[in-house]
Amino acid sequence: MTESDCIFCRIAAGDIPADLIHEDDQVLAFRDIAPQAPLHVLVIPRKHIPSVASVDDEDQGLMGRLVTVARDVAVAEGVASAGYRLVINAGSDGGQAVDHLHLHVLGGRGMGWPPG
Ligand code: AMP
Repeated sequence: MTESDCIFCRIAAGDIPADLIHEDDQVLAFRDIAPQAPLHVLVIPRKHIPSVASVDDEDQGLMGRLVTVARDVAVAEGVASAGYRLVINAGSDGGQAVDHLHLHVLGGRGMGWPPG
């Protein structure tokens, strides 16, 4: 399902340019427009899922696919051996700004804990 007012659906449809580093029938990965680390990539499903809070049982395979693509991005971008962080923000307290499920791949520097 494509939502015409969803920026990530529009990227998936090719209507808005993005710095794509992976694309397949289910998943895209592209560089974040405002990177918070030397490596900052977003991994998204083509399917419009507003949030991790709205993932259905039928999406379990897709969720696994998002994680394996994120792992492969970390390897391809050269941060896997040093380590990296995968983040899913959910809702307002979680800091979610774009209502299309996405997984942040952050790497290339040490990450603090607890997160801000
Ligand atoms: P979140 O706060 O988890 O919803 O993260 C949304 C992310 O999307 C932020 O890191 C933004 O910088 C990023 N973002 C928003 N618009 C674009 C875009 N057109 N291309 C790439 N990244 C974007």
